[in-house]
Amino acid sequence: MPSDLTYEILQQLISFDTTSANSNLQLLDYIQQYLQRHGVDSHLVHDDSGRKANLYTTIGPDHIAGVMLSGHTDTVPVTGQNWTVPSHQLTVKTHADGARWYGRGTTDMKGFIAVVLAAVPDMLAQPLHTPIHLAFSYDEEIGCIGVRRLIETLRQLPIKPAMGIIGEPTSMKVVTAHKGKLAAKVTVTGKECHSGMAPYGVNAVNYAARLIVWLEQLAWQKRSSGPFEYGYEIPYTTVHTGVVQGGEALNIVPNHCEFVFEFRNVAAESPRDLLASFRRYASELEAEMRQVDPNCRIDIAITSEYAGLATANDEEVVSFVQQLTGEATTTTVNFGTEGGLFSQVLGVPNVVCGPGSMDQGHKPDEYIESQQLEACERMLKRLIKRLSQPNEGL
Ligand SMILES: [Zn+2]
Repeated sequence: MPSDLTYEILQQLISFDTTSANSNLQLLDYIQQYLQRHGVDSHLVHDDSGRKANLYTTIGPDHIAGVMLSGHTDTVPVTGQNWTVPSHQLTVKTHADGARWYGRGTTDMKGFIAVVLAAVPDMLAQPLHTPIHLAFSYDEEIGCIGVRRLIETLRQLPIKPAMGIIGEPTSMKVVTAHKGKLAAKVTVTGKECHSGMAPYGVNAVNYAARLIVWLEQLAWQKRSSGPFEYGYEIPYTTVHTGVVQGGEALNIVPNHCEFVFEFRNVAAESPRDLLASFRRYASELEAEMRQVDPNCRIDIAITSEYAGLATANDEEVVSFVQQLTGEATTTTVNFGTEGGLFSQVLGVPNVVCGPGSMDQGHKPDEYIESQQLEACERMLKRLIKRLSQPNEGL
């Protein structure tokens, strides 16, 4: 079984409803007090509203670069999900293949944070010759929003982490790559009129349809011509339209239509470049619409965006974490993490490696297998041992 301390901390972390829409300050206050009891000071980096924050601290010597353990404190909502166990109360159930710990965030990703915090006394007792940095963010689930501020703050510090482990659920496998994502909302403003007079109007649904077909053609082009990055189940950039809304009645030419689409890009592709081509096509259509009415327009707004992760296999962090987990291989995941921003914006090479599986994340009755937490505890023990060797460095 995982340690009593891991259980106690996870129980607390799960009890705070830190759905991204809520404040995470109570949870951070709990963590700060816990760290404080061990004599560790931590810093908060707030959002503009002051309702949410990132937490950052360094354990061990503060004049050299160490290993960052990173996780997000927010969770997805439970709204509309059919839970058979309490969503914000840790419940342990024994199954034939071992115990499962239930609750929102157990696997994504308060389980990892609990194991990290439970290892703090061990980090202090060694003591560490190379430091461990803790980085806990907010608003990851709605597009890696919070961590951007943390990264801005870390940029100003004289010492930034030498490498990072992003503890998202990978069943403790070493993940070196995931795709990036750019999502956007398109609002088409046409001109309404009676459908019998259709040529006098500008049909917003028709123009939206042409934009959507353009995106679909792009999707096919990516599928046939790449660029390709092997290691993914779908080894090319995907383009997808998810929701369309427009029109009021059949006898009215619709003046409004909106839709959302996304790119999930491989590292060799710039989603901003794809968006720029889409914008060029949209402005051609806009010019056409304006021949009928100068007030017609097409607005395109990015709603969420995160960078892909593409850590080279020869980066030191890869073999370093492989030694900690005993995993000789690397793999990819089909979800996003903050790792891409840490490597692209802050220049901190990192891998994703954490307990639990995304098969259980974001779902009703989310759980983590207790063996996964134990495996993560073992990884941290080895990390602490390694970083407590004098002159070992990184
Ligand atoms: Zn997550």
